[in-house]
Amino acid sequence: MRDVANAAEARLRIALQKSGRLTDASLELLSRCGLKVSRGKDQLMCYGENMPLDVLLVRDDDIPDLVQEDVCDLGLVGLNVVEEKRLAFEAAGQPALFEVVRRLDFGRCRLCIAVPDGFEYRGAASLAGRRIATTYPHVLRRYLEERGVEAQIVVLSGSVEIAPRLGRADLICDLVSTGSTLAANHLRLADVVLESQAVLIRTPVPIPEDKQDWARRLLMRIDGVEEVKGSKYIMLHAPRAALPAIARLLPGSEAPTVIPLEGLGDRVAVHAVCRENVFWETLEQLKGVGASSVLVLPVEKMLA
Ligand code: ATP
Ligand code: ZN
Repeated sequence: MRDVANAAEARLRIALQKSGRLTDASLELLSRCGLKVSRGKDQLMCYGENMPLDVLLVRDDDIPDLVQEDVCDLGLVGLNVVEEKRLAFEAAGQPALFEVVRRLDFGRCRLCIAVPDGFEYRGAASLAGRRIATTYPHVLRRYLEERGVEAQIVVLSGSVEIAPRLGRADLICDLVSTGSTLAANHLRLADVVLESQAVLIRTPVPIPEDKQDWARRLLMRIDGVEEVKGSKYIMLHAPRAALPAIARLLPGSEAPTVIPLEGLGDRVAVHAVCRENVFWETLEQLKGVGASSVLVLPVEKMLA
């Protein structure tokens, strides 16, 4: 029999950003995976009430380190942070003990080279001998090395976009999602260094057996949540002869279920999961090929 101390050890721990751009979507993802949490008094830990999974709320920059040090089994963080940390560990001669196991559908942004208005940019060669301000020195160094360009990397801890105006750098390498911050600082996008999005990382060290089952189940649920995003369940009646035309109209609906309709001759009921949104135009076209009683429903959960 397992004593209380051992039972506590068997809980999975996942690190999320405490407060920032990734926080809401990360908590929402876990909630859609069925996790109910109660917040600890210290606001650092959330305890899973219905799964042996606890959430640690921290600065996003600390998430890879927490997985590296085996304090957490899993983490939800931007690929930009993961790559920077991985290269930093490798530069220090240490292997990174975290790996990306899923790319998620939020936190999209790009790490970009941005230059001041008037800077003539003709590809990476234009960066030679320049001072580039960034909070991502390792990712930037790799980018420059891959292109055989030598430049000076000015490492800042924040407010990178004002560095050129302050004369601290000639240009910057920073995260961009819309470009409006760049424009406000008289900068423009010149090149993309890294396309980023939120990712799930885990330790490459085998997770202890008593936690593994939940780690596997959580991953399967995350896959289910990601898969149903934008998916629709569509039901309609149609003549059997219209099935090929209907299949062409319903994007990503492989293998629909076809059910004969009692007493309606060659009319059948068609049920299908569509991996994309279904627009009014599609419904009108379905009607055009003979469909009737068309219903489009959101998909809440899916388990392959
Ligand atoms: P923390 O206090 O946790 O260190 P932070 O200021 O580093 O917060 P945020 O600005 O909340 O972090 O960004 C967190 C992550 O969100 C980024 O690392 C990146 O992966 C993603 N992100 C998405 N869009 C943007 C954007 N426009 N600018 C910056 N980060 C973005
Ligand atoms: Zn941060």
